[in-house]
Amino acid sequence: MKRVHNFNAGPAALPFDVLKRAQEEFINFKDSGMALMELSHRSKEYDQVHEKAIADLKELYHIPNDYEVLFLQGGASLQFAMIPMNFLSSEKVGNYSLTGSWSEKALAEAEKLGKTAIISSSKESKYNYIPNINELIPTDDAAYVHITSNNTIYGTQWAEYPDLGDIPLIADMSSDILSKEIDISKFSMIYAGAQKNLGPSGVTVVIVKKDLLKDIPSSIPTLLNYQTHVKNNSLYNTPPTFSIYILSLVLDWVRAQGGVSAIEKINHEKASLIYNCLDESNGFYTPHAQVGSRSNMNVTFTLPSEELTKDFLAQAKELGFVGLAGHRSIGGCRASIYNAVPIESCEALVAFMNDFKTKY
Ligand SMILES: *Cc1c(COP(=O)(O)O)cnc(C)c1O
Repeated sequence: MKRVHNFNAGPAALPFDVLKRAQEEFINFKDSGMALMELSHRSKEYDQVHEKAIADLKELYHIPNDYEVLFLQGGASLQFAMIPMNFLSSEKVGNYSLTGSWSEKALAEAEKLGKTAIISSSKESKYNYIPNINELIPTDDAAYVHITSNNTIYGTQWAEYPDLGDIPLIADMSSDILSKEIDISKFSMIYAGAQKNLGPSGVTVVIVKKDLLKDIPSSIPTLLNYQTHVKNNSLYNTPPTFSIYILSLVLDWVRAQGGVSAIEKINHEKASLIYNCLDESNGFYTPHAQVGSRSNMNVTFTLPSEELTKDFLAQAKELGFVGLAGHRSIGGCRASIYNAVPIESCEALVAFMNDFKTKY
């Protein structure tokens, strides 16, 4: 069977075992005589999948009891708008740390809806570092502070998170959710489109502290109000049942790997392999991210010229390495090495990169 080394940035690699299990259960799900996609979202069979996915995420990620886990639609991008709609009242200011394109987009949505402030930014240096957390000082009347925990396009990642006292910290974790152990209680809300580390596109995971939900104005349209989804256990309308099912299989896989701490360890090894290759290339490969801000999920780098970059990508493709072109906005190369990318793919990539360097 043909399988490539998949370094796509999102949608991205899924664990092989998950795909196989989905295939086995595809046509006749749990002896129902139907595919999961054909079942009612109110059926007993689907309900078990839904409840298990929520319970497993809570357990694996150590989510405290005063948090809700929601499965929404509209991607992380809809959260950019829902956050200010629900949490930014007219007297308050939405605070944003700008660390890349996704933070900019989150800010742009909030600007349409209320008052905002940029409280830290690394834009002036092409987002190649994460600002010091001690410089993250909220404004008076801050409604919340929003950060992007991993910058998928620039390849930077927050190594630690700020303590903001009473001010809610909200994080877009689309590209590093479940990639390492975190202290959930530092955050009032975490959200992530599933298609990088959790499963297929179509479902967005929201982990939100109950506290944050108490002052949501009732004027918000039903489907855009977090309370609607909390009250209905993410079943107010038809949820993306198939995406949630695959997500639940991914969670089973995470458990089988030894949980989030085991995944974190292997992610660190995977990233170190590639960063070491960059660092030991005598300047042939230049990493974009500064040391200390490097992402363990998206490794971004450039080659000495456009021409070499083209050759590199073409030869990589021929050898079965997929998805290594950098994002169209910054160019260069990017290896996305999410949870499901096996270490063998990273080893193979490093071998190819060393060969390529020697040849040129
Ligand atoms: C991919 C990505 C998004 C966009 O997610 P959608 O689900 O496509 O809306 C937002 N933020 C980050 C950090 C991402 O990596």
